[in-house]
Amino acid sequence: MDCNERLRELVLRFINHQGGAAEVTEDGALRVLLPPEVAEAVGVSEESVLGGTEIPLVYGSPVLERIIQQVTSHVPVVYALIQPPYLKKAGFEQILSRDISFPNARVMITGTAAARTSYMVLTVHYLALSDERREGHINIALQERTGANVQRLLDAWSGRAPVFLDPGKIPTHFPHQMDDPLKTAFELAKASSEEALQDFLESMKRRLHRDIRNIREYYATMETEMREGLSHSSLGEEQKEERMAKIADLPLEAGRKIEDIRQKYQVRIRLRPSVAIRILIDVVQVMVKLQYRKASREINLFWNPVTQAIDPLACEGCGKTISTAYCREEKGRIKVMCRLCNG
Ligand SMILES: [Zn+2]
Repeated sequence: MDCNERLRELVLRFINHQGGAAEVTEDGALRVLLPPEVAEAVGVSEESVLGGTEIPLVYGSPVLERIIQQVTSHVPVVYALIQPPYLKKAGFEQILSRDISFPNARVMITGTAAARTSYMVLTVHYLALSDERREGHINIALQERTGANVQRLLDAWSGRAPVFLDPGKIPTHFPHQMDDPLKTAFELAKASSEEALQDFLESMKRRLHRDIRNIREYYATMETEMREGLSHSSLGEEQKEERMAKIADLPLEAGRKIEDIRQKYQVRIRLRPSVAIRILIDVVQVMVKLQYRKASREINLFWNPVTQAIDPLACEGCGKTISTAYCREEKGRIKVMCRLCNG
């Protein structure tokens, strides 16, 4: 396949994926029909010929640049299904007391049922740019229904015979809306990448402070030397004045140097989701009744056969993932919260 064919292939796939239509003309260009929002994003009219003399498709051409931008700004999503042959039937009391604690409530399992729930494994690429660069990947596993971080799923899911699904055969169990879980997973990845970059950020800060200290010392020494030189008998009045003016300018000059150095060590962090894998897993739904003071509430927990554990919860105050859940009564309703939100 030559370069033009490859470009045409890329553009064809993009157009099909976006719900447009395209046909190859006799001279190898693409006659396309695009949905209005796609046409606008790419900067052509809805009916256009791409790759002809009017709108060429070559590397660097504005239309191709915009198409590439569109392709890479959307996270590719892969779908998979995990169906273990056997699901646990009993013994959930013990597992519940092992995996999640409710320090201020009475807990009773009222029933269990086979269910399916979806998870998202998101890979995010981070790039930190400063005087040096540091990059890497962060993986996050999220329970899509609750927004809880199920980190143990990361190492385990690929070994549990996932079946990858054709784009046309995605079960309806997946919540149609994937923006919320994606956003939550991205926020978690952001926090993890900051943790991963801790050493790098610290080292940039250390070098910045060292350089600032050196600049200050350099200018302080220079000022002392210049002041000492003032008493030198060979200096005329005019030269003395000139030197005084130079001394007066030193703090400003040092300030400029320090500002330059701050710019040099400033760290810009860029995060880009690389791929999202949404996995539907057969789980056991564990219905639990929480009794807190005079109020009670039923909640659903999920026993995950891949991690062999009950998924952690998300705090209903701040969204943080928790395995110690405090109950708190708000307007007659029990809320499940982290220790901090419970106050
Ligand atoms: Zn909280």
